[in-house]
Amino acid sequence: MSKPALEISNLTVGYGDVSVLRGLSLEIGQGQLVALIGANGAGKTTLLRTTSGLLRPVSGSIRLQGQEMQGCAPHQVVETGFVQSPEGKQLFLDMSIRENLLVGAHNRRARAVRDQTLKEVFSLFPILEERQHLAAATLSGGQQQMVAVGRALMAKPKVLALDEPSLGLAPIMVDRLFESIARIRDLGVTILVIEQNVFKVLQLADYGYVLENGAISMQGSGSELLADSHLRSTYLGI
Ligand code: ATP
Repeated sequence: MSKPALEISNLTVGYGDVSVLRGLSLEIGQGQLVALIGANGAGKTTLLRTTSGLLRPVSGSIRLQGQEMQGCAPHQVVETGFVQSPEGKQLFLDMSIRENLLVGAHNRRARAVRDQTLKEVFSLFPILEERQHLAAATLSGGQQQMVAVGRALMAKPKVLALDEPSLGLAPIMVDRLFESIARIRDLGVTILVIEQNVFKVLQLADYGYVLENGAISMQGSGSELLADSHLRSTYLGI
């Protein structure tokens, strides 16, 4: 059996004396689309920042493609293949769409295949090719989110992490974005999505985890989680 794409074991992380994650463990199989859900402030972004090497855990292990990442610098984590598209997109609004995308192809692995990857991103998001020379500021919120996802793809992720990609988007754009995320999974990229849009993300996900009180409280296939009464009352208000 192949190694998990990402395997996090017993991770404890905090800010100062306050622990946010307390012994969290999860696993993402190669090629899977996995959702992580949890209330505001549960620690989802903290998990991504720790996996990216931006925060140092107190203890625990983070294995990417079988390789221990704990203690690695952020650029080494990207080079190994964990790439995140941060919450709030964080584009360079005065720069062109093309320039924003090329920023993503900074690591050695990605630079070597930059032109080919740009073609793949443009075929996923044709509107970005049409408007590539315009400033990112001229795009709608949904189109800017496409640039943020495209920029992460330019880094050639083995595991792509998306932090709240649907935040602030109109419903029609949310549907299109989720379709694109499914297509990226179909291209063979392993994906971890953090989402407040619990219903939509669990409809799409191969597997999901629920983060409560600093650890995983529940896990299962998207359909299993959607059928769970605690999840329905806590996260769907049903
Ligand atoms: P959201 O859905 O609101 O983005 P989240 O699940 O991503 O929430 P985190 O952003 O990881 O949650 O925050 C987890 C907890 O850590 C929160 O209580 C937050 O206030 C706290 N926290 C986050 N960043 C810092 C920081 N730099 N210093 C101190 N506490 C922080």
